[in-house]
Amino acid sequence: MAIASINPTTGETIKTFTPLTNVEIEQKLQLAADTFRAYRRTTIESRTRSMHRAAEILESEKDEFGKIMTLEMGKPIKAAIAEAEKCAWVCRYYADNAARHLANEIIETNAKHSEIRFQPLGPVLAVMPWNFPFWQVFRFAAPALMAGNVGLLKHASNVPQCALAIEDIFRRAGFPDGAFQTLLIGSDAVEAILKDHRVVAATLTGSEPAGRSIASTAGAHIKKTVLELGGSDPFIVMPSAKLDSAVETAVKARTINNGQSCIAAKRFIIAESIYDEFTTKFVERMRALRIGDPMDESTEIGPLATPQIVNELAEQVQRAVDSGARVLTGGRKLTRAGNFYEPTALDNLDPKTPAACEEIFGPVAMLFKVGSVDEAIAAANSTTFGLGASAWTNDPTEQEVFLEELEAGSVFINGMVASDPRLPFGGIKNSGYGRELAEFGIREFVNIKTIWVG
Ligand code: NAP
Repeated sequence: MAIASINPTTGETIKTFTPLTNVEIEQKLQLAADTFRAYRRTTIESRTRSMHRAAEILESEKDEFGKIMTLEMGKPIKAAIAEAEKCAWVCRYYADNAARHLANEIIETNAKHSEIRFQPLGPVLAVMPWNFPFWQVFRFAAPALMAGNVGLLKHASNVPQCALAIEDIFRRAGFPDGAFQTLLIGSDAVEAILKDHRVVAATLTGSEPAGRSIASTAGAHIKKTVLELGGSDPFIVMPSAKLDSAVETAVKARTINNGQSCIAAKRFIIAESIYDEFTTKFVERMRALRIGDPMDESTEIGPLATPQIVNELAEQVQRAVDSGARVLTGGRKLTRAGNFYEPTALDNLDPKTPAACEEIFGPVAMLFKVGSVDEAIAAANSTTFGLGASAWTNDPTEQEVFLEELEAGSVFINGMVASDPRLPFGGIKNSGYGRELAEFGIREFVNIKTIWVG
C-alpha cells in the first residue's frame, strides 16, 4: 500500500510520501537505542512536565489536528476534534498517575529488604491502525513514555500526516528526539524491525491477520507483545430496558466513526417480546442519519476510509444476503464521489452462520431475535471475538448473569462500550491479549523486577 493521504470524501490524492530507506530505518533504530539509554534515567517529574505540555498542545491545536484526521480518514470533524481532546486526557491521566502506578512495592519476606520495581524495557514498536489515528497512538505512547520506554510508530499507510503530527507533538512537548519517532514504512518493513535486537517489544492494534503475523515474529524472537485486534461486539436488549434510550445508543454504537470502530456494537441481540418495536425504531433512526461531507459539522456519517473497505463491506452484505439475511434498510454503496455506504440493517440470520460471525467494519447492523437470557448469551458468545459487550436490562439478576457470562474484555450494562484512561481496555479470544490504559496498560512494557537483599 502506498504511503499517501487520499481524501476519502473526494478520492483526491493530497500528498504521497516516500518510504524510509533501509539506511534511514537503521539511523532511527540507533537513535531510539541511544535515546533510551539516557531517557530511562530522566526523572518522572521531567517526563510529567513534558506529558502535560503534550496535553496542552493537543488541546490548543485540536481544530487543526481534527482537520488532518478528517482529511485523511473521513471521520466527522466534531468526532475528530473530540479525539484530540481525549488524547490530551490520556496524556494528563498518565502524567498525573504514572508515579503511583510504577511506585516501588515493599514486600515482607525473610529478606532484610525485598521489593518490586517497575523498570522500562527499551524501544517499543507500535503498529497502529487508521480508524482512531490519534487516540490509538496516544494510548500507547503516553504510558510508554511515562514508564521510560521510547516509541517507534509504524502507522497505517493512509494516515501519514497524522503520524508526522504526533511525532511533532512529542518533540515540541520537550521529549528528546528519538523518544518518539514515526517510521514512514509499509507493512513489509515491519518484520525486519521487529527482529532487530534494539527493538524489545511490540504492540499492534489492527486486524487479526496482522496480529498473527506480528505475534509469530515476536514469539520467534521472544519479545513481549500486546495485541488489540478486531471485534464483533454484541448489544443485547432485554424487555426491562428503557427501549428508547437503548435504540438511540444502539444507532450511535453501530455508526460511531462511520461504523469503523473495533468496539462498535455490531450484533444486536433483542428479546422477542420487544423485537418488532426495537427494530422499527432502530431502522427509522438509521434511515434518518445525515450522510455527507465529514468536514461539515452537521454530518453524522462520512465516507469509509478507503475504496477497498467499501468493496469489502458490500461483499460481506452480499454474503449475508446469500445466507438468508433480509435487508431492512440500506445495503448499497452510494452513487456519489467518495467511499460512501448506506447505513444498513439486516436480520433473519442465524447467529452461528459464518456471515453473522465476521467483523463488519462499516455502518451495517445485524439484528437477531432471542427467547431468553440463555439464548442471548449463547448468541453473544458465538463468535471467535471477545472485545466488548453491551447489555441493556434493569433486572439486577439478569445484569449479574451478563456480567459473569459474556465472553469479552469489557461488559457495559445500560451503556455503550467506550474506552476511558482510568479503566483497562483489551480483549480475549481472537480480539487479542494484554491491556491498554489504567495501571494495567503502563505495566505491560516494564520489567517487573524483584529486589531481594539478605
Ligand atoms: P490492519 O490492516 O491490520 O492494519 C493495522 C496496522 O497494521 C497498519 O499500520 C498496517 O499497515 C499494519 N499491518 C497490516 N498487515 C501487517 C502485517 N502483516 N505485518 C505488519 N504490519 C501489518 O487493520 P485495519 O484494517 O487498518 O484496521 C482495522 C482493524 O483494527 C479492525 O479489525 C479493528 O477491529 C481493529 N482495531 C482494533 C482495536 C482494538 O483496540 N482492539 C482498535 C482499533 C481497531 P499498512 O497500513 O501499511 O497496511
